[in-house]
Amino acid sequence: MDRRSFIKKAGVVTAGAAAATTLATPAISQGMRELTMVTTWPKNFPGLGTGAQRFADRITAMTDGRITVNLLAAGELVPAFEAFDAVASGAADMYHGAEYYWLGKHKAFAFFTAVPMGMLANEFDGWMNHGGGQELWDELAAGFGVKGIMAGNTGVQMGGWFAKEINSMEDMRGLTMRMPGLGGEVLRRMGASAVSIPGGEIFPALQSGAIDATEFVGPWNDRAFGFQRILKNYYYPGFHEPGSGLSAGINMDVWNSLTPADQTIFRAAGLAENNDMYSEFMANNGTSLNALINEDDVILRRFPDDVFAEMVRASEEVVQESAEDEIGQRILDSYLRARRDIGRWARISEHVYAEARNSILDI
Ligand code: CA
Repeated sequence: MDRRSFIKKAGVVTAGAAAATTLATPAISQGMRELTMVTTWPKNFPGLGTGAQRFADRITAMTDGRITVNLLAAGELVPAFEAFDAVASGAADMYHGAEYYWLGKHKAFAFFTAVPMGMLANEFDGWMNHGGGQELWDELAAGFGVKGIMAGNTGVQMGGWFAKEINSMEDMRGLTMRMPGLGGEVLRRMGASAVSIPGGEIFPALQSGAIDATEFVGPWNDRAFGFQRILKNYYYPGFHEPGSGLSAGINMDVWNSLTPADQTIFRAAGLAENNDMYSEFMANNGTSLNALINEDDVILRRFPDDVFAEMVRASEEVVQESAEDEIGQRILDSYLRARRDIGRWARISEHVYAEARNSILDI
């Protein structure tokens, strides 16, 4: 074969290979992949929706575009609270949401968002990342064919919005309040009715009178939903969600199909979002609280001490009684141990410092 005919032949082969590549699905032939992520949030809703989007985009960026995560808002593929089933069944590859929405699957999922009188965000991270929390969550979620990764935290949440003042436990009785998770059960023990509805459905429920009180997150998120247009009494502190972790759940077959390097990227993207979302909430809650008070005529109120003490007692009862089986008991024990050990440290460090700084400097 002379050089000229060799080149000609090689050219033909190359052209043929190129044509075959064009005909095949380009994404697969280049090892590229698209994953569908359903969420429990409205699209681009501040903090939660935008955090979910940032988590998805970060995976795409960190894999240099090999893995594209396509985000679908609540209701686009499935309603908010069906996100878990969609991922467990493989109808979606991943979700971004809050584990306490899956209480109906197993009560212990609540511990991987927040429980009443539970841990603050940084205490919770200590348990999840270095205190055995992740391993217990892995065990629980694996039973449903899901792998969980923390991907966000709201920090401590507000007590909620009420039409009337809360001056005694009597004022809690008869209320119909939106509150998901174990907090809802605490409300029921106080004689109130608790309903769990997705964030995007709260405002219409208030407008129609289906509920007469609600909690959601805090000043930044609550103001974005416009609750201040209907209710004016904004209570603190919240007993029910002291530092709510947001989570990504990945279908176990999808998770197992990822290379160890890509699994590391998913974990890193989750850790990054955990930090990013928390700092975003911290920055924006302060300015939004000012706006609620100064522009929207919201009245900031603190639950009376005796009312809050009742909330603490009822919360502790509900949490202590939450274990419904062996794994539930191990999760409860591990969580309470971490709350005690980390809490005792936090009590004589950050909390004493913050209290002294704020009272002496009148912050
Ligand atoms: Ca909440």
